[in-house]
Amino acid sequence: MTARIIDGKAISQELRAAWKVRVNEIKARGVTPGLAVIIVGEDPASRVYVGNKVKACAEAGIYSEHIALPADTPESVLLARIADLNANPAIHGVLVQLPLPRHIDSNQVLEAIRPDKDVDGFHPMNVGALVTGNTAFPPCTPSGTMKLLEKMGIEIEGRHAVVVGRSNIVGKPMALMLLHKNATVTICTSRTVNLAKYTRDADILVVATGKPGMITGDMIKPGATVIDIGINRMPDGKLTGDVEFESVKEVAGYITPVPGGVGPMTITMLIENTIQAAERAIIRN
Ligand code: NDP
Repeated sequence: MTARIIDGKAISQELRAAWKVRVNEIKARGVTPGLAVIIVGEDPASRVYVGNKVKACAEAGIYSEHIALPADTPESVLLARIADLNANPAIHGVLVQLPLPRHIDSNQVLEAIRPDKDVDGFHPMNVGALVTGNTAFPPCTPSGTMKLLEKMGIEIEGRHAVVVGRSNIVGKPMALMLLHKNATVTICTSRTVNLAKYTRDADILVVATGKPGMITGDMIKPGATVIDIGINRMPDGKLTGDVEFESVKEVAGYITPVPGGVGPMTITMLIENTIQAAERAIIRN
């Protein structure tokens, strides 16, 4: 059996087609949705991600501000920039690209973003709302993954979903979203003993570890849905996921490729959150 490929690029395009109408409706009210993206330092992967986000804003007809600060920027300066953007009515979404340089406390920075402009969904208030199943801004990568499952018609309720990885930005919110859809959820980490025991029981396996190719075909239940969130740049410059695509696709029922799976969905959900932030600002004002 060869798995069906979940084409994140095509599903993203389908969702992006609906942006125009919403953005035009917002513009008709005299408002242009605005997103500010702050990057601190020169991390090449982060620069590519930020470039893609700014490009997607242009595609959606959204105003964007790309603020690039040097790696030695003091935390106080970054916090002051965020305060300015919080107060700026032309900006509806504020995003700080992670990771930040070591001398900056990421938690302080994420808490400084106004919750109603927190389009990444990382502010503790929005994280708390996610726990109760009531968030305004679901974190983009897990919500993009949920959208892929929905669009492919993959049943979640009553299924065993195994999430490998427990980061605050991917693994934990992913597990919560699957739980809200009534999956039975297992979270595995680097400390899990006998990982394959869990992955082999997964109807839906979501992998977000940053360890290239760590999930192999012998770790998969036949017919399972495998979502590969990992994005790893290999020495030859190619991108690869956390799942060994060639062996896993022979066992799984559905699989996301890297690139072209979850990646495009992350940016799509970011723009959706920004459009939504602008719509909410109009209602508030
Ligand atoms: P983190 O490094 O923050 O977290 C990795 C997680 O994987 C940790 O919880 C860690 O466990 C776990 N882990 C590491 N090794 C193993 C192992 N051998 N077995 C089981 N669990 C393991 O990474 P992120 O969550 O930020 O990112 C994960 C991947 O997803 C990366 O490749 C990243 O580039 C990619 N990514 C992709 C996005 C997209 O748009 N597609 C967006 C964001 C991230 P422990 O907690 O015990 O250390």
